[in-house]
Amino acid sequence: MRLYILPVGEACIDKGAVISPGVDDGKRVHIPIPVYLLQTDDGRNVLIDTGMHRKHITDPEYTFRGQEISKVLLPVMRPEDSIVRRLAELDLSPQDIDLVINTHLHFDHCGNNELFKDATIVVQRQHFEVAKEHPSFPNQYFDLPHLRYQLIEGEPEILPGVHSVLTPGHAPWHQSLLISLRHDGDMVICADAIYCQDNLDHDAWGGQMDPEEAKRSAEKLLHLAEERDATLLYGHDPDQWRTLRKSPAYYS
Ligand SMILES: [Zn+2]
Repeated sequence: MRLYILPVGEACIDKGAVISPGVDDGKRVHIPIPVYLLQTDDGRNVLIDTGMHRKHITDPEYTFRGQEISKVLLPVMRPEDSIVRRLAELDLSPQDIDLVINTHLHFDHCGNNELFKDATIVVQRQHFEVAKEHPSFPNQYFDLPHLRYQLIEGEPEILPGVHSVLTPGHAPWHQSLLISLRHDGDMVICADAIYCQDNLDHDAWGGQMDPEEAKRSAEKLLHLAEERDATLLYGHDPDQWRTLRKSPAYYS
């Protein structure tokens, strides 16, 4: 199995206000927005999250215009950050994706779900239900009649070598994913359960919806990483990002 990390844009944020309260308050930084692609040994293409909508390339304020959050978060996307372009670099199109797994349904994780009408889209059932009722999850990106969802519960092995790990706190029923690779070993896609190393180093969880629960989930991931000698891939860490292999390179 191969794991590709696709760069699909950045967000210019007030770091303290958005991801690490108490650390770098008022400092503007660019954070990466990743999408992950798995190519299984039996030839299936699996996308983990779908990034920000392509519309942000020409209209950065497309999602949050006029909203309070736009003062501390601005999407920054170049044409090559379109998920369609990133897949094309690997000779793939959206129709080639068999399965999409959403860690959760915030705008930077499900923004292009609409493209994957031939895929099955896997989401935690309770998360999906909460997201449909809550304005912080832009429903226009995921609650679409032409999409086929498979709603899961608990922590199943979604496909061989890919386990769901429940990590609530960032959002209700947020899920991380444990990916078992032959050569590179176990990797944990934390998504927004851990945004960045500073959250761990400074015990800074105030940017999460439920800080106490987020801290417990982060500890769960740390424990898992230790137990399995796994690499933690943080959700939006610009420092770690520089050290990672990006598509077309891959982990395997
Ligand atoms: Zn995010």
